[in-house]
Amino acid sequence: MQSEKILVINCGSSSIKYKVFLMPQEKTLASGLLEKIGDKKSHLKYLVEGKIFQTDISVKNHIEGLEVVSGYLKDKNLGIIKDVKEITGVGHRVVHGGEGFNSSVIITEKVLKKIEEYKNLAPLHNPHNLAGIIASSKLFPTSVQVAAFDTAFHTTIPPVAYLYGLPYNFYKDFSIRRYGFHGTSHRYVSRRAAGLMGRNKYQINAITCHLGNGCSITAVKSGHSVDTSMGFTPLEGLIMGTRSGDIDPGIIFYLAEKMNLDLKQLNNLLNKESGLLGLSGVSNDFRDISQEAAIGNKKAQFSIEIFCYRIKKYIGSYLAVLGKTDAIVFTAGIGENAPLVRKKSLENMENFGIILDDEKNNLSQPKEREISSDNSSIKVFIIPTDEELRIAYDTYQFVSKK
Ligand code: AMP
Repeated sequence: MQSEKILVINCGSSSIKYKVFLMPQEKTLASGLLEKIGDKKSHLKYLVEGKIFQTDISVKNHIEGLEVVSGYLKDKNLGIIKDVKEITGVGHRVVHGGEGFNSSVIITEKVLKKIEEYKNLAPLHNPHNLAGIIASSKLFPTSVQVAAFDTAFHTTIPPVAYLYGLPYNFYKDFSIRRYGFHGTSHRYVSRRAAGLMGRNKYQINAITCHLGNGCSITAVKSGHSVDTSMGFTPLEGLIMGTRSGDIDPGIIFYLAEKMNLDLKQLNNLLNKESGLLGLSGVSNDFRDISQEAAIGNKKAQFSIEIFCYRIKKYIGSYLAVLGKTDAIVFTAGIGENAPLVRKKSLENMENFGIILDDEKNNLSQPKEREISSDNSSIKVFIIPTDEELRIAYDTYQFVSKK
């Protein structure tokens, strides 16, 4: 089996996150984060062979950003390649693939056009993903370019779960429906849970809880996503770092009138000033909120309660959706590291067959483990997510077939 060097790129509005893997060995050769693209001073953090290198540099746009990245990858002292040809595949995280993509694909002109079309569904993400693809096609012209969509895993959600209670023509005319996000993560952890239970990927019904800065929860039936908490946009569902999650849409009209807020302000309020940040008044970072809660900050304590209550409510509704559930999985920054959240989200659910083992829940190692008690009929797991590795795998599969 031939080894391949695969670059995975995640372009945000002002950042490029990247990792180079040696596949199929799953070895990380280098990784980095370029932030503040477009500012006078951008910042690059580059990790190679356990060493961290940091520099401030002026980077105007994503093209320039990727030039910097590829420059360091080829650097005499810090580099891991001599020629860009050694990177045989580049995998791109693309947030929105609409209804058009149910798996990762090699990027062709037709695919590019579709991603361009979906810009209006994800105006904060797809344009930057697209900029990354265009830049990378120029800088790595011999590499296979692959797109991995956040929405792809959720294309199996049936209409009963993806249609909203709006006039039907809004779906037909404006593509308004539930799309769901974090699909790469939900797919990975549900497959992994099946593996841990000694089953194949289609032999599991699972509820996967991705709790990071963004949070979403998915019902996976026989290996396929059948419902998920994020919707038309990533704003719906669970309470998140700064996003409100579910609210009564009536609140928006009330606030618009009462506080004279325009659409931009309302958008900002619900996406950037709400969630754990808005409730706690402390931070959007769960670690800061936990510290404040531990020293008696009532708002911080209450925000954790509300956060967990919403998770529990979704788990309850997905138990109903699935009928029979084999496993519940916690993943991402909070899901993997906050025993209190896992405990509170699953409290008093013994009658549903969910019994947490407190001792196992409170351990910090190994990272991937079962945390339910032996008599819990639904198994509970912590499974660290690795979206970049999944994208590297998808890309490697195309490269190795060439
Ligand atoms: P992610 O988006 O997956 O990187 O997750 C970010 C969230 O995970 C932030 O709210 C962090 O505060 C939280 N997080 C990261 N590490 C820990 C930890 N050790 N304990 C509690 N929360 C954590």
